[in-house]
Amino acid sequence: MSALRPDRILVSEIFESVQGEGPSVGMPSIFLRLGLCNLQCTFCDTPYTWDFKRYDKEKELVSRDVDDLAEELSAYRSRNLVITGGEPLLQGEALVALLRLLPSHRVEVESAATRMPSEALLERVDQWNLSPKLSGSGNEERHRLKPEVLQRFAKHPRAHFKFVIAEEEDLEEVDELVSRFTIPEERVILMPEGVEEEKLVRRGRRLVERAIERGYRYGHRLHITLYGDERGR
Ligand code: SF4
Repeated sequence: MSALRPDRILVSEIFESVQGEGPSVGMPSIFLRLGLCNLQCTFCDTPYTWDFKRYDKEKELVSRDVDDLAEELSAYRSRNLVITGGEPLLQGEALVALLRLLPSHRVEVESAATRMPSEALLERVDQWNLSPKLSGSGNEERHRLKPEVLQRFAKHPRAHFKFVIAEEEDLEEVDELVSRFTIPEERVILMPEGVEEEKLVRRGRRLVERAIERGYRYGHRLHITLYGDERGR
């Protein structure tokens, strides 16, 4: 992993769209996708941010000065900034510096919750969209589940837990995590796995029933319905 600097951010892409998942679905947003990830999920839909055996890092990532980046982000009309990845918390220190320059933006961070954010970042971010990875992701448990991080976020009122569900066993794992880390049910969102509309709807209908039984929320994936798995949408 390259040496990271607190005044520079490794960026994969920037685009404007509407939030496709989670509690603020539909909100016009600027997406700042950061490079690097500490996990290797088999289903990853953004491998170009971290898998440099398959992708050319020099072409995929650009090291940006936080001042220039803040200026570029400010030029967009949307005022909801979604910081995604990759794993944004690998660049937490630089994110604090960036967000100081964007005081009036509403900020969401999407993370797999394997790194502890600083108190400054916890305080500044308006909404945490966390997606802890289950065993089907192909990551070893010691890499994908960090108990102290999950416990901290479970107590944070602005942290939401999105779980991507493919099989019934995934749901059992979610129930176990919710119980083990005392995650409030109303901040759990079940989303169907898949990048084809037909599969999403089939799995989604079943998940709605499961969500109702448990007091969880159901979350569709609007961007898949609108754009499939097209990059930069
Ligand atoms: S945590 Fe996210 S970005 Fe990282 S490998 Fe898994 S799906 Fe991809």
